[in-house]
Amino acid sequence: MNTSLRFDNRFVSELPGDPEESPRLRQVRGALWSRVLPTPVAAPRVLAWSPECAALLGLGEEDVQAPWFAQVFGGNRQMPGMEPYAANYGGHQFGNWAGQLGDGRAILLGETVNAQGERWELQLKGAGPTPYSRGADGRAVLRSSLREFLCSEAMHHLGVPTTRALSLVATGDGVMRDMFYDGRPREEPGAIVCRVAPSFIRFGNFELPAARGEVELLQKLVDFTIARDFPHLAALPETERRIAWFREVCERTATMVAHWMRVGFVHGVMNTDNLSILGLTIDYGPYGWIDNLDPDWTPNTTDAGGRRYRFGHQARIAHWNLAQLANALVPVMQDTGPLEEGLQHYVQTFLGAERAHNAAKLGLRGALAQEDTLMRDLFGLLHAAETDMTIFFRALAGLDLNAPALALFDAAFYDPAKRDAQAPLFEQWLERYAARVREEALDPAERVRRMNAANPCYVPRNYLAQQAIDSAEAGDMAPLHALHDVLRHPYTEQPGREAFAARRPDWARNRAGCSMLSCSS
Ligand code: AMP
Ligand code: MG
Repeated sequence: MNTSLRFDNRFVSELPGDPEESPRLRQVRGALWSRVLPTPVAAPRVLAWSPECAALLGLGEEDVQAPWFAQVFGGNRQMPGMEPYAANYGGHQFGNWAGQLGDGRAILLGETVNAQGERWELQLKGAGPTPYSRGADGRAVLRSSLREFLCSEAMHHLGVPTTRALSLVATGDGVMRDMFYDGRPREEPGAIVCRVAPSFIRFGNFELPAARGEVELLQKLVDFTIARDFPHLAALPETERRIAWFREVCERTATMVAHWMRVGFVHGVMNTDNLSILGLTIDYGPYGWIDNLDPDWTPNTTDAGGRRYRFGHQARIAHWNLAQLANALVPVMQDTGPLEEGLQHYVQTFLGAERAHNAAKLGLRGALAQEDTLMRDLFGLLHAAETDMTIFFRALAGLDLNAPALALFDAAFYDPAKRDAQAPLFEQWLERYAARVREEALDPAERVRRMNAANPCYVPRNYLAQQAIDSAEAGDMAPLHALHDVLRHPYTEQPGREAFAARRPDWARNRAGCSMLSCSS
């Protein structure tokens, strides 16, 4: 076993834990975590791993191939220094306070410190029951684990703040799931992802002690979070420190959501237990990627009625979630003014980031002015003409500014009739845009570079992930490995891999997994 991993488990050594050590379901009061070991699995086998994430931990291929790796990251053994636990947190689900939730199937193995002094928490998702499993099995199926593995790493390479994924390990055990909630459960292959992040603390970790009136516990968690995860604020006096911290949480959340909008990512379940205190994208469940641009689209069938977490609503929901966090923090703040200012700062940061991303996507200077309608008008057209967001923006850099033509975007349209209906307005927009670019006179090569760095060529489209899942379930991991590899360089055109940049095929339009997903995972 590689014993070069050094553990320094501050969460369990500095914060109050639950005295009971068993996975018995219970309400856990006065404590922020419960000791629990992963439940062993039948035949752990590494299906995929991330070299970049492994490197963060000082691990390499020889470690991944050694027998201990699958044993440890399948949950059968622990490395020296690991002190596994499940975190106790609550959350607002779909707008309603849900009380205690906690890590129902995630088990934190330990906090490792690498040679550069960086702290990385290792967490298994799908490692078996915990006190927070609420009657569920604590497991995860291959399809959902594969999606989490693939998307976490793709997001990292896209430049979106995210938790990372070290490994995807098949358990060799079956897991019963009623995927369509139609009363016909079937056994699916189980798999476990090892997630990696500097911190897995969520908004919900603060909300639960606040809701229970456990102010001292809340205060300990706030001080701990700042000390461990925001060390640059540690020197400030207490009041200023907490104010600066909340402001930074708001800022990081805004930055994250602005990136989601830039690349066309829809989280799908933005409950407060699924928002990270570090502004990292966390808990990849029924997430999805925008094919044809539609601000009202949500991948999550559980949310199909209200569409609370639809693409175009994400910035508002993040604000709502921050407001819930602010409410939870009231007991540890001197007054509420700074919390309101933090929320304002969220709005300003998001709008600023959005204007900067939009300028970069369009190849224009600086950030778009607040009153600039160029992008808003384009979004309206892309929506009306059922246009692929990723293909359109990637192609835009190649527009002939002296003779702009809609034909350049042929590969982006899903419905020729809708394209034709919008063609005159589209052509007007292209003329207006070309005039604007000519007027700004940015160096052409610099402009293309700027656009190609903001507009990915490859994203983990829902149907591509589903194809990788279908193959993986049939025992063939090659499609996942190929997709994972393409997504390591999402801004670089990769000759021979054009198929990965193609629009969603017709067969995938309404197929489960390709256009919609349930929470069953
Ligand atoms: P999610 O919406 O996936 O973030 O999950 C909400 C809550 O349900 C969290 O507390 C999860 O830990 C818990 N949960 C989801 N799936 C399972 C499962 N299979 N077993 C136990 N707990 C689960
Ligand atoms: Mg969750």
